[in-house]
Amino acid sequence: MGETTEFGYNSKVEGEVVVSRADAVINWIRKHSVWPMPMGLACCAIEMMGVAASRFDISRFGMEVMRFSPRQADCMIVAGTVTYKMAEVVRRIYDQMAEPKWVVAMGACASTGGMYRSYAVLQGVDRVVPVDVYISGCPPRPEALLDGMMKLQDKISQERSVTNLLKNDMHPAPELTTATT
Ligand code: SF4
Repeated sequence: MGETTEFGYNSKVEGEVVVSRADAVINWIRKHSVWPMPMGLACCAIEMMGVAASRFDISRFGMEVMRFSPRQADCMIVAGTVTYKMAEVVRRIYDQMAEPKWVVAMGACASTGGMYRSYAVLQGVDRVVPVDVYISGCPPRPEALLDGMMKLQDKISQERSVTNLLKNDMHPAPELTTATT
């Protein structure tokens, strides 16, 4: 009994073994290596470009790898007014992104249609893709986008990644309808 206890608390073993949960490890890696798909549709896109500049430096969060191919991106940042004409394109690109994937609605237009209560503008991009984080403002400043991305990191930290590996569709997208105004 004494020998077993001594082995269990062997200081050499304690010093070289790290115990964690698979979810914690996977989520830690994912949240520090988000690759955004910049869906710049209007003026908010200028602020989105600003976060890559030296003053804001999104690379501090491991997110500077903007990708223009949906197959290489895991976070769509919708920045700007989503017209009905573009809504189908947004959805198609979202569908082409591999799981796990997330969506950030940047600004009033992407979140709600903003000031454009018109026949041509979708009243919120969450009608065609599932949104994880909404960012207010018209336009939001780059700091607001960074804050939104940090909120997304918090959300990724809480995900059950191992369980989700067994699911085909972790983030089910809404049904597309024509009556969305
Ligand atoms: S929220 Fe304002 S700044 Fe952003 S796309 Fe709409 S009108 Fe332009």
